[in-house]
Amino acid sequence: MPEVAIVGGGVVGVSIAYHLAKLGAREVALLEREPVLGSGSTSRSAGGIRLQFGTAANVRLSQWSLGFLKRLPEEADADPGLRQVGYLMLVADPAHWSDMLANARMQRELGVPVETLSPNEVAARFPYVDATGLLGATFCPEDGYADPYAVVQGLARAARRLGVTIRTGAEVTAIRVAGGRIAGVETAEGPLDAPVVVNAAGPGAGLIGRMAGVEVPVLPYRRQIYVTAPHPGLPGDMPMTIDYDTASWARGDGGGLLMGASDPDEPSSFRTDPDDAGVLLLGRTIMRRLPLLADAEIVRSWAGLYEVSPDENPVLGPVPELPGFFVANGFSGHGFQHSPAVGRVLAEMILGLPPSIDVSTLDLARFREGRAIRENAAI
Ligand SMILES: Cc1cc2nc3c(=O)[nH]c(=O)nc-3n(C[C@H](O)[C@H](O)[C@H](O)COP(=O)(O)OP(=O)(O)OC[C@H]3O[C@@H](n4cnc5c(N)ncnc54)[C@H](O)[C@@H]3O)c2cc1C
Repeated sequence: MPEVAIVGGGVVGVSIAYHLAKLGAREVALLEREPVLGSGSTSRSAGGIRLQFGTAANVRLSQWSLGFLKRLPEEADADPGLRQVGYLMLVADPAHWSDMLANARMQRELGVPVETLSPNEVAARFPYVDATGLLGATFCPEDGYADPYAVVQGLARAARRLGVTIRTGAEVTAIRVAGGRIAGVETAEGPLDAPVVVNAAGPGAGLIGRMAGVEVPVLPYRRQIYVTAPHPGLPGDMPMTIDYDTASWARGDGGGLLMGASDPDEPSSFRTDPDDAGVLLLGRTIMRRLPLLADAEIVRSWAGLYEVSPDENPVLGPVPELPGFFVANGFSGHGFQHSPAVGRVLAEMILGLPPSIDVSTLDLARFREGRAIRENAAI
């Protein structure tokens, strides 16, 4: 019988499995319904990694995770494809600028080398940006991006070497509860007993929570990515460039760009079909800041799901009303970059060890107890 059954083989579930095994858990089973690990949100991600967040808990999760990704070649014999080109966050809205200045102060106190730039400094250092109307920008050179598929596959190989059982094509159809605590799961292939079950189902977190009789307030929202053909005007080391006011972004990719924007009016759904509406949205958002894109050719697009919590922060840890049930959900579009630290902290909590990072503000009970604090730098 496994000590722990993890529902979901995205980067979060795989990271939890790896860290559990590394910390000495003997029997860990990971159950993924699709034939390939990481084929949910993980493989649709832009791979962005940043230290620039609005809460100390998120900054600390990012710092721990970045350190882990740098060590991944030694730790798990895998190359995460890390490129520290920085994140440049452009702001024109006065309320947002005041948030960003406060965020930068808090980040510096935690050791993040974030700079605040005037519009003239933006124009001088990043000449491809139209700085018209900006109040300023923040830039952190340690930020960047990595390859989510390489990370999930590398961690899965390392987890298997440490003895984790990974089953793909294994859909969890029910959570079993006996005597008021977790007893295991049902799968299409039959029951699996386990005293601990972890909900790592990404956008499906709410559905898995319901199977256990636990309300996990995480909703799926479609997000689209568009890829341009190589463009001669783009600098090779272009940072992830964010139009903070419109939650839109662009970063380099093979000589062209990856771009995305959030449509605040699109309702929650499990839709993952890309459409042209996303291109029109880009024209009104990030592309206004990057005039050289006027003649860019879009060659590819895809859509995936953000898994959004009410305060756009992760929901992490044990569920006290159902002993044995743990959640690692609600990353609100930042789960790739936080997955190393989340894996570590969840493994520590499951094994009764003191967590490496204080995530007590990110527990599920915060919503009903009125302790939720919104992440103001969610993109
Ligand atoms: C367009 C887009 C861009 C993004 N960009 C970034 C970015 O730049 N940086 C960043 O950090 N994050 C980004 N994200 C968010 C990131 O991809 C997610 O936060 C992260 O992948 C979540 O990982 P996960 O393992 O929780 O979820 P997933 O990768 O979705 O994994 C959950 C898994 O659970 C499985 N599952 C669900 N139900 C069951 C069941 N009943 N039984 C068995 N298995 C089940 C699913 O098949 C899935 O594989 C982006 C997301 C999207 C869509």
